[in-house]
Order: sequence, then structure tokens, then C-alpha cells
Amino acid sequence: MNQVSCECGYAVRDDDEEQVITTVLQHVSADHPELVGSVTPAVVRGWIEVVPA
Ligand SMILES: [Zn+2]
Repeated sequence: MNQVSCECGYAVRDDDEEQVITTVLQHVSADHPELVGSVTPAVVRGWIEVVPA
């Protein structure tokens, strides 16, 4: 599983890396609008941790 844990406590995990990235970008635009523009798909990919399913 690919997991991203946001500093605010929000976490998303999915076996599809692209889905995780999409979900995190939606979270950022909803909850961290000040980060939109600096958080790109490449940045989110760097946040992914691979965890056991
Ligand atoms: Zn967050």
C-alpha cells in the first residue's frame, strides 16, 4: 500500500500511487489552500511511504 500522512493528521492509503496523489492534491486544495502551487504531483510522490497492506 502507498500511504501519505499529512502534517494535519489526515492520511490516505491506496494500492494505486496515482490515486493517492490525486486524493492528496484534493486534500491540499480543500484544507491547505496556501500550499496549492507548491505541492505538485512530484512533491506528493516524494511523501509516499510504502506500508504493508
Ligand atoms: Zn492536511
